[in-house]
Amino acid sequence: MSDNDIKKIILPYSISVRKLADELDASPIEVIKVLMANGVMASINQSVDFDTAAVVASELGFEPELEKIEEETAEDKSEVPLWRRVIEDEDEEDLEPRPPVVTMLGHVDHGKTSLLDAIRHSNVAGGEEGGITQHIGAYQIDHNGRKITFLDTPGHAAFTSMRARGAQGADIVILVVAADDGVMPQTREAANHAKAARVPIVVAMNKMDLSSANPDLVKRQLSEIDLVPDEWDGDTMIVPVSATKMQGLDDLMEAILLVADNKEIKANPKGEVMGTVVEAELDRFRGVMATLLLQNGTIGVGDTIIAGKAHGRIKAMFDYRGNRIETAGPSTPIAVMGLNDVPRAGDLFRCIESEKEARAFVDELENEEKSKTVFQRVSLEDLFERLQAGETQELRLIVKADVQGSLEPIVNSIKEIEEKQSEVSIEILHQETGNITESDVMLAAASNAIVIGFAVEADNPALRLAEKEGVSIRLYTIIYRLIEDIEKALKGMLEPEFVERTVGQAKVLATFKVSKFKVAAGCRVLDGEIRRNGKIRVLRNSKVIFDGEIGSLKRGKDDVREVREGFECGVALKQFHEFEEGDLLECYVVEEKPI
Ligand code: GDP
Repeated sequence: MSDNDIKKIILPYSISVRKLADELDASPIEVIKVLMANGVMASINQSVDFDTAAVVASELGFEPELEKIEEETAEDKSEVPLWRRVIEDEDEEDLEPRPPVVTMLGHVDHGKTSLLDAIRHSNVAGGEEGGITQHIGAYQIDHNGRKITFLDTPGHAAFTSMRARGAQGADIVILVVAADDGVMPQTREAANHAKAARVPIVVAMNKMDLSSANPDLVKRQLSEIDLVPDEWDGDTMIVPVSATKMQGLDDLMEAILLVADNKEIKANPKGEVMGTVVEAELDRFRGVMATLLLQNGTIGVGDTIIAGKAHGRIKAMFDYRGNRIETAGPSTPIAVMGLNDVPRAGDLFRCIESEKEARAFVDELENEEKSKTVFQRVSLEDLFERLQAGETQELRLIVKADVQGSLEPIVNSIKEIEEKQSEVSIEILHQETGNITESDVMLAAASNAIVIGFAVEADNPALRLAEKEGVSIRLYTIIYRLIEDIEKALKGMLEPEFVERTVGQAKVLATFKVSKFKVAAGCRVLDGEIRRNGKIRVLRNSKVIFDGEIGSLKRGKDDVREVREGFECGVALKQFHEFEEGDLLECYVVEEKPI
């Protein structure tokens, strides 16, 4: 065979025999034969790792290459909103800084509305305040010459259904916590939403003017939900404020801008027009009025847009003060007139050449939506297939139970299941006692999780939403059944015999505190790689002094799935914090033993 015949092929970390055969244009039987000839017995649905797949690929005349994993987005592209992907696809040199978009989340009555009002009033340039005649659901402020866009989420119930998506439209979440009341259920929920959408959180500790304020207690509660204050060596900024006394607002703006600078919030003003619908209504006199947040590109009067399933030519455009404007750039909230229908909050919008094109797009969207609700969401039934297909490596759960006494053993058993295998990480996004509510389903929909209930019911709004969003809810009354089902869902890939395989080694160069009790190791990978889902043995003077799980693996500030030879990384282990310079970390995975 000449060199020209060798075809390059990119393969993932792990691939099922069936898929490998597809990729190699071979029959599964051919692939299985090559595997057997190399001492590997695998059935058609079993997965093989890259090294094994690479041997097969080479024998069949391919030049295999390991798929590059884009660090942050690799886990699940579908979670990254489309507008973010549009910006990511722009040429780096066309990108310009844009104002950060901020949304406020928090428990009811903790002061979101008061804080939004206070910020708006204190920051509008002198004398113009009277000019704000309408709430359009978003506004922009100026802080020392820099702009910040706030999504001014109204308090009405209809909007809560957008909360889940709201976090996805924003660059930063301000989590409002009343200093006299502390972390409450909706605080936790909001934090979960922000984390699921991978949006950074700044905490505004409100009502500091009250004598009953207890900031230390609140900070401790925040630490318990993984929002460790920076003053305690964590990485969450907690800013004390009082909305009613207008105190601390400048500090809050500074904190937002600091986070924004770290995140490099950018867009291409000349790029593809893309944004999110903030809210929309039918006005008796003006027709459909929609508030849009433009995230990329520049939009102008006369452009034809499509927003969700509505479309039309923009007849007039207004800024948040109600002033008529002709064009607007990235991160600008605008109110537009001219759509033929009322889009939904959270819908995306984009520019389109003609109405005809718009209608074709709407049809396409409708079709896609239909197929999406049927196929897209995970369920325990299809989990195994997804794992096999390499579509997911994570099972996300929301667990509700009648009492604490049953919640704990369930959560512990689920954790045990996770520990018994290394292929799938099981993440419990939220655990709580009580019936399954709409907000549980919302969180599940936003993060593609399954809701599991033990001795509880799902209320009607929750059931309706679950049906609409295609979220799977499973109810149990016997604990072992619940556990058995999860185990079954993971089965097939899990054979009773396992072997350990070392995948890489790293040397500890330095140690650093990440919180009061936790210490991480700054390392260089000497050979192979360190994998987030692998396990670590810590060796000192050639003796194993610890063997256990990785708590986090970072490159710089980013969580990553693996770090390869020659690179530096930060490793924190779940139950070991006594690293010393010079320690050797051996990363290994536990694998199914070939029969
Ligand atoms: P939301 O439900 O989170 O939007 O909360 P609101 O903004 O409606 O505030 C709830 C209640 O807390 C109202 O009675 C506010 O007047 C009060 N409140 C809000 N911020 C402060 C504050 O900084 N100090 C005090 N003392 N009360 C506040």
